[in-house]
Amino acid sequence: MSHHSHTPAEPTRRPLSRRGLIKAVGATAVGASISTMASGRASAAGATAADAIVIGAGYAGGTVARELAARGLKPVVLEARDRVGGRIFTATFGGEQVELGGAWLGPQQELVHAELKRYGIGTYLDTVAEQVVLPGPSGLRTVSPEQAATVVEPLWNSFYEGSEKYFERPHDPLYRKDLLASVDPLSLQDRLGKLSLAPEELATLSGETSVYSGGKSTLGSLTGMAQWIQLSGGSYGTYTTTMTLRPVGGMGALLTAMLNESKADVRLSTPVTKITEAKGVVTVETSNGQTFTSPVVVVATPTNTWRSITFSPGLPTAHAQAASQGIGVPLATKVWIQLRGQVLAVQGQAAEGSALPMLIPQQQTSKGRIMVGFAGPSLDVSNRTKVLEAVRAYIPGAELLDYRVMEWGKTPYINGGWGLRKPNQLLTLFPAIEQPHGRILFAGADIARGWHGAFIEGAIESGLRAAEQAAGLI
Ligand SMILES: Cc1cc2nc3c(=O)[nH]c(=O)nc-3n(C[C@H](O)[C@H](O)[C@H](O)COP(=O)(O)OP(=O)(O)OC[C@H]3O[C@@H](n4cnc5c(N)ncnc54)[C@H](O)[C@@H]3O)c2cc1C
Repeated sequence: MSHHSHTPAEPTRRPLSRRGLIKAVGATAVGASISTMASGRASAAGATAADAIVIGAGYAGGTVARELAARGLKPVVLEARDRVGGRIFTATFGGEQVELGGAWLGPQQELVHAELKRYGIGTYLDTVAEQVVLPGPSGLRTVSPEQAATVVEPLWNSFYEGSEKYFERPHDPLYRKDLLASVDPLSLQDRLGKLSLAPEELATLSGETSVYSGGKSTLGSLTGMAQWIQLSGGSYGTYTTTMTLRPVGGMGALLTAMLNESKADVRLSTPVTKITEAKGVVTVETSNGQTFTSPVVVVATPTNTWRSITFSPGLPTAHAQAASQGIGVPLATKVWIQLRGQVLAVQGQAAEGSALPMLIPQQQTSKGRIMVGFAGPSLDVSNRTKVLEAVRAYIPGAELLDYRVMEWGKTPYINGGWGLRKPNQLLTLFPAIEQPHGRILFAGADIARGWHGAFIEGAIESGLRAAEQAAGLI
């Protein structure tokens, strides 16, 4: 999947031009060709000294690098994997550009649109569903998108009732801490149990709450999802627009532009194992035996990976708790499917426990229809027959040309999917989780204040904050 091009060593570092870099990364593996040449100054002890060190080259790390560069610093970015992007992974399937990780943007996500504008990257509307399959009183039924909205939206609006109060200011989630005390302990399952729903209504909601939770609706918090609704003006219908826009060139294009502007020294295949602060210097050690030093380090890796890094001094309470609990969901399995022939753009949703609780139509090609599904824990994604059976629950008679699976929960150095806070995590982790640990700082969508977890908007927000904190320490 990844295409390495090893650049021969040069006496002075010459970053790839923006044009060259974009060409180099293409649409297959984002950033796989970023130079791995050294730019830091080697110290007597064999350590490489850097102005600032950023750990993790996802959107949070890319934002930090770009912002520090804008302040005249030359950051070194240490990335464990052999590509940049993290939970964003633009690839090809069925001859088409697809996103194995995050795919869509919403018009209401202001930071990402400001970034797209900065780099002249446009967006376009993704495929719109022509039919919706959803739970009915006697099994799945097919309705028009308009009918589906009239059934589904009122259900969600009652599900999220009250969140306009406890998230009176959704960009400042702790503003009504007093009201949150009774709500933050609730899981999505707890909330489902509090509503008097007909079985098909429960099925309609539980498919989505289970997928977002990473397998089971008991895992995700009500406040985690309710905050996104309030960030969308309190309307579930508006919230669904977060899955409508796609950036030209794929989700990785903007990150490439940011890293390119940063001129950061991006070291791929460089997993960090230990971070030590002593006497105003932070020392970073990698599993390849390299050592880096810097006045400041930003940890921009998923919370689910923090426990595999040794911090000295040890992490403060909130960070230690986030490290042990994780915020990234355990199951986030995207199944890319190509169905033979002309197939309607069918959107499907089914109850928690279904093999494929969510199916989203993508483009029709000359060969067939591309679809993307989010698998439930019961689907054996290695079994082609089971995958086809799961699709046929929505589209009887569908013929499978090809499929491809991305299991984020099993991906090294990610160890989970998008973030969705667990019950109690908002009040126990925040606001302490945003605070620096001496000269060690933290960034990432998982710990964003606004569009947290499942959105690159949050990664950018958190990266902007961490960069400002870092600049204050240099
Ligand atoms: C299946 C899926 C669908 C999603 N859908 C959407 C969507 O439609 N729209 C949207 O906006 N968002 C979506 N998201 C969420 C979005 O992808 C994330 O919120 C965002 O990309 C996270 O960015 P980040 O920089 O915080 O972390 P990451 O992207 O995870 O980046 C962290 C980086 O740190 C690296 N790393 C980890 N450990 C180490 C180490 N020890 N040393 C060095 N490097 C390390 C990792 O390899 C990784 O590159 C989705 C996510 C998934 C998984």
